[in-house]
Amino acid sequence: MSAKETLPPVGGERVGARRERAARIVAALHEAYPATRIALDSGSPFQLLVAVILSAQCTDERVNQVTPALFEAYPDASAMAQAPLEHLEQLVQPTGFFRQKAKNLLAGAQRLVEVYGGEVPDTVEELATIPGAARKTANVVVAECFPDNISGIAVDTHVQRVARRLGLTRSWETPKIEADLLRFVERGEWRWLTHLLIDHGRAVCKAPRPLCEVCPEPIAGECPSRGRAAGVRGRDTRGARSG
Ligand code: SF4
Repeated sequence: MSAKETLPPVGGERVGARRERAARIVAALHEAYPATRIALDSGSPFQLLVAVILSAQCTDERVNQVTPALFEAYPDASAMAQAPLEHLEQLVQPTGFFRQKAKNLLAGAQRLVEVYGGEVPDTVEELATIPGAARKTANVVVAECFPDNISGIAVDTHVQRVARRLGLTRSWETPKIEADLLRFVERGEWRWLTHLLIDHGRAVCKAPRPLCEVCPEPIAGECPSRGRAAGVRGRDTRGARSG
């Protein structure tokens, strides 16, 4: 979809009705993607934080190819805080933007050691102060590692596109999209929603052309864009995550 794409309106849908429709969509997504999970490999909150930082502008598959050697050399914040910058750059080079990412990883590990005793904080607000970890990264780490503290929903390019097409939001702006999803989706599903929308975006509701003809009926039947969002190229056609 592009910024110019006009999606069909979810005409006159009241808040309660949209919540009910959102619940049906989430249930259908669970049915379609029963094994949904985060695609990044990690063995601790610290390693997940690192993997999510590396996934900016990079595919999860590429990150998973890089992190085994990185975590073998620097398994925790204390170890990474002592790493030579050049070695970090070398290890994360295949993920792109490697100089900035290595710099952030080093500064982030040092901040974790200095401020949090080497542990990863368990709130979005604290996590968002770690170099390289914007709100989306913080939301992912809290959802996966500290679900009792969940307060947000990570929005990437797939979530943005699929949520818009499904009529769960009308916005292009990440903060507004997140606010709409928080408003219309039950809290117990916040943890899963990002992965479900990413799975659906990769498998069926693709950019630039959604495969509406093979979209499971329980999802397509709730979608105001069914058969109407095809063939439009635009700014969210990347396969990699952003932000
Ligand atoms: S019906 Fe089409 S636009 Fe709607 S969710 Fe399915 S693939 Fe996406």
